Amino acid sequence: MNAVPVVERACELRAALDAARRDGGAVGLVPTMGYLHEGHQSLVARSAGENDLTVVSIFVNPLQFAEGEDYGTYPRDLDRDVKMCAAAGAGLVFAPLTEEMYPQTPITSVAVNGLNAVLEGRFRPTHFDGVTTVVAKLFAMFGPGRAYFGEKDYQQLAIIRRMAADLSMPVEVVGCPTFRESDGLAMSSRNVYLTAEERPAATVLWRSLQAGRDAVVEGSRNPDEVESVMAAVLAAEPMASTDYAAVVDAATLDRPDVLAGELRLLVAAHVGKARLIDNLGLDVDQL
Ligand code: AMP
Repeated sequence: MNAVPVVERACELRAALDAARRDGGAVGLVPTMGYLHEGHQSLVARSAGENDLTVVSIFVNPLQFAEGEDYGTYPRDLDRDVKMCAAAGAGLVFAPLTEEMYPQTPITSVAVNGLNAVLEGRFRPTHFDGVTTVVAKLFAMFGPGRAYFGEKDYQQLAIIRRMAADLSMPVEVVGCPTFRESDGLAMSSRNVYLTAEERPAATVLWRSLQAGRDAVVEGSRNPDEVESVMAAVLAAEPMASTDYAAVVDAATLDRPDVLAGELRLLVAAHVGKARLIDNLGLDVDQL
């Protein structure tokens, strides 16, 4: 396996990308916070299949964590991450220090209003502005190309798509399916917070989503009813504490009065120290 170069500076990132583009190459970016797993690797592999140079950025972005969240304890292991990037086909890792990304406290921020306030936004009101601000910066450093994001963070994907469109960013945002453990738990860097006892309980998010989907497949078109089914599954798991169980229009994230067309079921819950999220798509017209 070839070693992947790691650069810390935006100017080094730009130089590598400029060289790839000069040779007529297409470039792909996979933004991450590191502590990679197979879900991240599936994004890297997808990009490597579609581009000549794939860059993985690894940066735990302080802006998207609120006071009291896990910024300080978020798992980090750059050496392991670099090996996983190489195995998945990345050509470069961009691992900036905080001072490189934020040489001064930014007084400019990017906010995708409305979309940033629903679902996750109700529980993490400053989170998405932190995400869009850092992704806008990464896109500015990266320049024209494709950027790969997981459907695992469905609201984030919708917000980034909208940001890129609203601000005419020269980046094609590509959404990629959620990678799961064999028992359905969505892979997440935060799964390391789960104790051996909590780990089986964490499948409750996936079970809740499946129960919601089953309710729609069996004929329910009432969002209250479907959300109650999902919430009941979560509530039946004593180790989980629910933040939300919601069904929304997949494109707008609005809650429809009657379920129709493409939907997204989304759940968020705490299991022990881990706050977990998951979601599932469903097209009522295809049932
Ligand atoms: P993170 O490091 O958690 O910020 O995630 C970096 C990127 O990987 C985001 O676009 C996530 O949506 C994506 N991602 C995280 N977990 C998964 C997964 N289980 N399957 C697919 N993509 C994922």
